Amino acid sequence: MTIDIKVPTLGESVTTATVSKWLKQPGDAVNADDPIAELETDKVSVEVPAPQAGVLGAHAVKEGDEVEVGTVLTTLTPGAGGQKAAPAATSPAKPAPAATAPAAAPAPKAAAEAPAETDYDVIVIGAGPGGYVCAIRAAQLGFKVACVEKRATLGGTCLNVGCIPSKALLQQSENFHAAKDEYADMGIIIDSVKLDLAKMMARKQSVVEANVKGVEFLFKKNKVTWLKGTGKVEGTGRITVDGKPVTAKHIVIASGSDSAGLPGVEVDEKQIVTSTGALELSAVPRKLVVIGGGVIGLELGSVWHRLGADVTVIEYLDRLVPGTDNEVAKTFQRILTKQGLKMKLGHKVTRAEKNAKGVTLTVEPAKGGAAETLEADVVLLAIGRTAASKGFGLEEAGIELDKRGRIVTDAHYATSVPGIYAIGDVIAGPMLAHKAEEEGVAVAELLAGQAGHVNYGAIPAVVYTWPEVATVGKTEENLKEEGVSYKVGKFPFTANGRARAIGMTDGFVKVLADATTDQVLGVHIIGPMAGELIAECTMAIEFGASSEDIARTCHAHPTLSEAVKEAALDVDKRAIHI
Ligand SMILES: Cc1cc2nc3c(=O)[nH]c(=O)nc-3n(C[C@H](O)[C@H](O)[C@H](O)COP(=O)(O)OP(=O)(O)OC[C@H]3O[C@@H](n4cnc5c(N)ncnc54)[C@H](O)[C@@H]3O)c2cc1C
Repeated sequence: MTIDIKVPTLGESVTTATVSKWLKQPGDAVNADDPIAELETDKVSVEVPAPQAGVLGAHAVKEGDEVEVGTVLTTLTPGAGGQKAAPAATSPAKPAPAATAPAAAPAPKAAAEAPAETDYDVIVIGAGPGGYVCAIRAAQLGFKVACVEKRATLGGTCLNVGCIPSKALLQQSENFHAAKDEYADMGIIIDSVKLDLAKMMARKQSVVEANVKGVEFLFKKNKVTWLKGTGKVEGTGRITVDGKPVTAKHIVIASGSDSAGLPGVEVDEKQIVTSTGALELSAVPRKLVVIGGGVIGLELGSVWHRLGADVTVIEYLDRLVPGTDNEVAKTFQRILTKQGLKMKLGHKVTRAEKNAKGVTLTVEPAKGGAAETLEADVVLLAIGRTAASKGFGLEEAGIELDKRGRIVTDAHYATSVPGIYAIGDVIAGPMLAHKAEEEGVAVAELLAGQAGHVNYGAIPAVVYTWPEVATVGKTEENLKEEGVSYKVGKFPFTANGRARAIGMTDGFVKVLADATTDQVLGVHIIGPMAGELIAECTMAIEFGASSEDIARTCHAHPTLSEAVKEAALDVDKRAIHI
């Protein structure tokens, strides 16, 4: 008997995708969850996993084909799977294939053509979370390491203009909002709460500075040399830094990503800003329009809404945060709307025109229809990020890029040029700092002959709004598409003692477990401190735990984490507190 492997549902309003890459070939033996093909829409890139172990049949479509949801991609004859990744502890010298990274790959390509004598063992280009972590791990493993960074400070997008400043502003704006609108309910009367935006921004900047200086300290501690300037790749073993030649046995590219542009919307970082400008505004806009209902748009939209802006979010799809569990996304939309953020879903911005008063946006329904205009003082363009792979010699050196400009790598992060590797936002996969960090560690260990490995099935993702949204593993939609039978356990924060005590009862925890084995397949949380609660769920998935394992683990009382335990108990309908 063969099983059809079909194009999965890709989002509520997405009906077609392009087959960007076959990751497995006809006749390949695969394990359950091995990615077999990569699909792309204009919004997301998804890997289609094998529903169970077996041998693949012929490809029914070819790379580049436009396919509809439900189209058969290939078939699978159930049976024995392929080789499993060897655990690090038992096979330190032999690199194990990354669990869900593309295609079973050859061993890292040898840097055979590298210059005989080199200045460094490893040069990393880019000092973001991928690059700086890779440099430190490589130094720990005994390599002589340099890291090239063109920015005036280390830490990349994440520490300078991404994760860290946005989280500082999210915390500060949440405190302001709570002091203004919520403390009175707790019996704390503050006569007049005022905003000192300049001071708020100065504190945010001091948090950034402490973090970037921290990386500089870690470089010194680990004897990593910071080569200040722009790195240009010349070929195997050779780069230049601001024109000066430097050589290394191995080169790791960790050049990150930049904000994606939108035709008709010209960014000036004052009236029309990317996330970088939105972290620096000198006044609270009266009206802020956010283009893009993804993580960055909703986080920064929340910041400015809490500080007093009238915020409208325009999203092309008819849902927020694509890829997130549908039930969570719907609850999220309802809560944000209740907070006062206006949502214009299923719409696209076709033009942004600056004028004396602000910006006039032309907006059209995504499915076609009459255009309308919207006025804003400030427009935040947050429709995603693109790989930073242009302008520093990659294509000239023969490094293959995919259609979206991302560096193509094998399962061991090797590019098409021997001795050159790539990690982080500049390669495929979720653009997340911790994913970049894991890859940084893995590639350093692979270069040292160890079993560097990233489990792409256990990478959490968090939206740091209030409430927070945190997810790991498969969504219900994923499981339905893959034909996996599963059980659902849910527990609302309204029934959690700690959530009531702190006055934050919005949201729930949802645990998805295999119907037969009880193995935890996914956890989706919307609620207070969801970003912290997801850690135990990620560990459960990493360790292959069952919902019973979580349910039998003693959780301190009263904590928000008891909601995770209760949701795990609810998988077998035996939650106690509801
Ligand atoms: C507003 C915002 C908020 C975010 N929040 C989160 C979050 O909460 N959690 C999360 O996980 N992720 C978050 N991200 C995403 C996260 O910042 C990225 O996924 C992460 O920084 C990627 O790390 P990286 O090392 O691949 O690249 P980057 O951090 O982009 O670093 C690349 C570095 O390479 C340097 N570089 C590039 N080319 C060259 C060259 N030729 N020579 C020298 N230097 C070069 C760049 O200057 C840059 O410093 C956020 C991003 C933004 C914009």
